[in-house]
Amino acid sequence: MDASCTTLNAADGSTKALWTAADGQHFESVLIRHKTRATLCLSIQVGCALGCRFCSTGRLGLVRDLSVDEVLAQAAWAVGQLGDEGIRLRNVVFMGMGEPLLALGALGPALRGLMDQRSFEIAPRYLCVSTCGVVNAIEPFYREFPKVKLAVSLHAARQDLRDALMPGCRSWPLADLLPALDRYQEATGHRLFFEYIMIAGVNDGERELGELTALLKGRDAHVNLIPYNPAPGAVWKPSPRPVLDAFQQALRTAGIVSTVRRSAGDAIAAACGQLTPGEICTIATLSETNCPRL
Ligand code: SF4
Repeated sequence: MDASCTTLNAADGSTKALWTAADGQHFESVLIRHKTRATLCLSIQVGCALGCRFCSTGRLGLVRDLSVDEVLAQAAWAVGQLGDEGIRLRNVVFMGMGEPLLALGALGPALRGLMDQRSFEIAPRYLCVSTCGVVNAIEPFYREFPKVKLAVSLHAARQDLRDALMPGCRSWPLADLLPALDRYQEATGHRLFFEYIMIAGVNDGERELGELTALLKGRDAHVNLIPYNPAPGAVWKPSPRPVLDAFQQALRTAGIVSTVRRSAGDAIAAACGQLTPGEICTIATLSETNCPRL
């Protein structure tokens, strides 16, 4: 694998790698540090075919899947970054650029490489694959990797709103997705983990709260609320904090586990939905430091 990277450090302790592959394509990884452990958020595609409207990567369209070497290079970079800091790479999440369940040629071998005891030795329970819900790929995934966690980008519990926010996911409607996830839970015992980006006036109202509560009521589910991170030129705004807090409290009152994601990395445009090579170039020009963290 012949790819090089430039590293940007943010004041919150997160570090972004801006990769240039041998064919000139760009992709990114983000390392988020905690006290004694770190999380790597890595990419599996250059761009993404699904075009979610809140996502910078989705604006690119799909360029290509990354190779297994390119995926594992991101983990090697993270280990190198942590060096002698006394922090170990514990979690690896496939939440960067691309839809992992549409890049199966790289996903399986990359997961096996990350778990390999002769190399990264990441325990499968600390691996998480984030998907927008590619229904037909869910069962093959958990049959092969039953201990690896699955996170589902939900963002709306009403079909027409989800279609508007995530137009590339129309082939996998909620009416098919939820039963597939129920089967995943029954087979693996994992709690259902959903990501929900909070966008002011779009999906954070009473109606959407009621729909989300109704969809998940009675299920063993965890909803991670993600403050929307507007990319340059975005028309939407993040939900105000009091709205986000009230939304979370209402979920809890309904018996649904809920957390709010700390948006580590947004100072260097490394937070969820902010990974695009176009922005990489801008940011790298402004503040790059040469290659020397949930
Ligand atoms: S949110 Fe995920 S699935 Fe949607 S466009 Fe972005 S990278 Fe693709």
